[in-house]
Amino acid sequence: MSARRIIILGSTGSIGTNTLRVIEHLAEAGGPRYEVVALVAGRNASLLAEQAERHRPRALGLVDGDGAAAISRSGRAVHAGPDAAIEIIERFVEPGDVVMGAMVGAAGLEPTLAAIRRGATIALANKETLVAAGEIVMAEVAARGGTILPVDSEHSALFQCLLAGHGSQEVRRVVLTASGGPFRTWPAARLREATIADALAHPTWRMGRKVTIDSASLMNKALELVEARWLFGLGADRIEAIVHPQSIVHGLAEFVDGSVIAQLSPPDMKLPIQLALTWPDRVEGCADRLDWTRLRGLEFEQVDHDRFPALRLAAEVIRRGGSSGAVLNAANEVAVEAFLAGTIPFLAITDLVAEALAGLPTRTVRTLAEVAAADQEAREFASDRVAAISG
Ligand code: NDP
Repeated sequence: MSARRIIILGSTGSIGTNTLRVIEHLAEAGGPRYEVVALVAGRNASLLAEQAERHRPRALGLVDGDGAAAISRSGRAVHAGPDAAIEIIERFVEPGDVVMGAMVGAAGLEPTLAAIRRGATIALANKETLVAAGEIVMAEVAARGGTILPVDSEHSALFQCLLAGHGSQEVRRVVLTASGGPFRTWPAARLREATIADALAHPTWRMGRKVTIDSASLMNKALELVEARWLFGLGADRIEAIVHPQSIVHGLAEFVDGSVIAQLSPPDMKLPIQLALTWPDRVEGCADRLDWTRLRGLEFEQVDHDRFPALRLAAEVIRRGGSSGAVLNAANEVAVEAFLAGTIPFLAITDLVAEALAGLPTRTVRTLAEVAAADQEAREFASDRVAAISG
């Protein structure tokens, strides 16, 4: 069988590097073979060059111009600049290709939409795409008969659990699990003192910095609830989150007859990545296996909404729709960046997102330009608040 073609957006990140590992594993394990057609990254020129050496893609993209020039000097052409991903999609993606959306942030939206329009199957890790513009993206997928395969572990779990029924009318609710992050047991007063290092010390998952901070504030779960709304077409009253510190159960679907179907596996992103690359088949996996002899218990707790108010914001965004998702996401991106720069305290992240949602109007969004306008307005609002807090 001829190799399937894949284009990886965000190849130097945590999901991107794991995707390349899975591709190598599949080649050895007799799974579907993948030809790596293009790799796109942000600033990490040396890792991109290494990946290019090993996987021999036809095209490379790098946002950072200096890094791109350095790689080009070694004889490889590189699409450089902020539009690198879009250029690569438009020049190299063919119908039926797989595009791994593993960029971080709303920057993933335009390339993902462009890939859908070119008839690619999207393996989607970049949840911000659906949070900011779920309505537009899902309409485009439906209009083209396209496919989005979830890579986020909770959504991959729900995707699998939901196959036990025949459509959303049989689903009472879906539940996404949250590890609770590094601050699960911290009292509210201590959260005020949380440092960058504290927030980056995730107990169960190793991920990029932005999603790790999102996990500490539970904004990650908020983004995931909105993502689930678009992927599975359920309302806020049928999508919930529960804290599960072991990160073994990733998602549960409860059906109207009372059956609950769950998906379990150790916290290792290689599994949902692999499933997206082999679907609808399953082959020998390279992710950690569940060792039942060492499993001591599976605990579940309710989310403490007073300490972690982000999930309430998600429910509001799901109810409001329109531009509210773009506002939530953009304000959060600005706030996380400010926290990581040491400019605002940890608790200010969620406060600032709540202020943006309360202070900015929710508009109807039908085009990417309208999403971009809402995104920009929220970034300006959030940047002003950052300046006021740090000033
Ligand atoms: P990382 O920060 O580790 O990686 C992000 C990747 O995006 C890097 O390759 C980065 O390049 C690249 N990038 C950033 N900006 C641009 C841009 N403008 N154009 C092209 N490439 C860009 O993030 P993760 O891999 O952790 O996460 C990626 C996405 O997957 C996020 O949306 C996250 O929420 C989601 N996700 C991640 C999980 C995980 O386990 N890590 C789990 C589930 C979802 P460079 O590093 O070279 O600058």
